[in-house]
Amino acid sequence: MVTEQISLPATADAVVVGAGPVGLTLAAALVAEGVEVVVLDRLATPATTSRAAVVHARTLEVLRGLKVSEQLVSRGLIVPRFTVRDRDRALMSVDFGSLPSPYPYTLMLPQDVTEAILDDRLRELGGRVHRPYEVTDVAQDAGGATVTVSTGETIRAAYVVGADGMHSAVREHTGIGFSGDTYAQSFVLADVHLDWQLPDDEVMLFFAPEGLAVIAPLPEGRHRVVATLDEAPEHPDRADVQALLDSRGPQRAPARVLDVVWSSRFRVHHRLADRYRAGRLLLAGDAAHVHSPAGGQGMNTGIQDAVALATRLTAVVRDGSDGSELDGYEAERRPVAADVVAFTDRMTKVATTRHLPLQKVRNAALRALDWLPAVHRAMAMNLSELATDPDRR
Ligand SMILES: Cc1cc2nc3c(=O)[nH]c(=O)nc-3n(C[C@H](O)[C@H](O)[C@H](O)COP(=O)(O)OP(=O)(O)OC[C@H]3O[C@@H](n4cnc5c(N)ncnc54)[C@H](O)[C@@H]3O)c2cc1C
Repeated sequence: MVTEQISLPATADAVVVGAGPVGLTLAAALVAEGVEVVVLDRLATPATTSRAAVVHARTLEVLRGLKVSEQLVSRGLIVPRFTVRDRDRALMSVDFGSLPSPYPYTLMLPQDVTEAILDDRLRELGGRVHRPYEVTDVAQDAGGATVTVSTGETIRAAYVVGADGMHSAVREHTGIGFSGDTYAQSFVLADVHLDWQLPDDEVMLFFAPEGLAVIAPLPEGRHRVVATLDEAPEHPDRADVQALLDSRGPQRAPARVLDVVWSSRFRVHHRLADRYRAGRLLLAGDAAHVHSPAGGQGMNTGIQDAVALATRLTAVVRDGSDGSELDGYEAERRPVAADVVAFTDRMTKVATTRHLPLQKVRNAALRALDWLPAVHRAMAMNLSELATDPDRR
């Protein structure tokens, strides 16, 4: 990984701000098409934590063009099923095995590995990330856009994309609103080693009176635990995670937490940018939408934004299509994010209701719905994000 700060070119076709999974995907897709791109990230080195650990079928499909999907699959863990459980009883099971996709499963892979694979591909294609460069100003005029970084250097480009995360500086400079709210609960997130007896080919969502707990297998024998709490501890430790699994997880054969590899707590927002484009400035990924981690769709939706935007930006920059091509990006991708925000919001509210009678109705309804093949298919299509593909609607 490159850590030295090398000087910036004065001009580019496009500047991509942010080298998270979305910025890296976008940059690689643009470089592959011969577009001159400068990628800037304020971090001196890439992030090394696991964060988003789910890669869905639609994401693997859209990444095939970049020739990284097979490598992602080879490094990840294939999980063909999600189940919703009430302690030892399965309420509903969603099977991905019959999805109309070459990737009929969910892939579990830590985000830092996904980013490293994308970063390697960007380099193979001849691109690179410039670090550490924090963007402090973005301005546009009739002839182009000017990006200023904290060293005072500037880059002039035809287009600038904010792939700079939830607190996007690019979005701030466009003045585009980021409407939505923050959930009351906080989330515990821990990668642990577990001693337990349940199958390791499922993502399990435990709906308990105290709140939600998700247990998902990760590569290298680890498990990801995600749970809601009114006030999560800053650094959840082994005892914290054990207490969550004791009160919400399997009862007949309880899970034992052997150690915590990494843990974090976070608050979750559900917000959507009012627009994805302001002239020469565009937004993608968390800069444009954030939502509940229920279903693991944040990074996936963002990577799919990046691939869609790359096609349109290439047409404008390289092939000379007029800028209206870029309005199609918002028309294509903003409704998808709006659906994901709404779907994950419904899932989160259903999963975290504290109202006991409602919990009973919910659990009974899930058991009844579990008999309906059409419900299974709709859930699998939505979770895998294949439902976002216009050809499959
Ligand atoms: C603790 C944690 C757990 C998560 N768990 C999940 C999960 O289980 N499932 C899920 O789907 N999602 C999860 N997420 C969310 C997921 O990580 C994001 O959806 C995903 O990273 C979005 O990618 P991105 O490229 O849009 O933005 P980011 O990954 O946020 O990348 C933005 C990049 O921009 C850079 N940057 C920011 N501002 C500037 C600036 N002014 N100048 C230059 N560079 C800048 C940052 O350094 C960063 O590298 C989690 C996030 C966190 C923090």
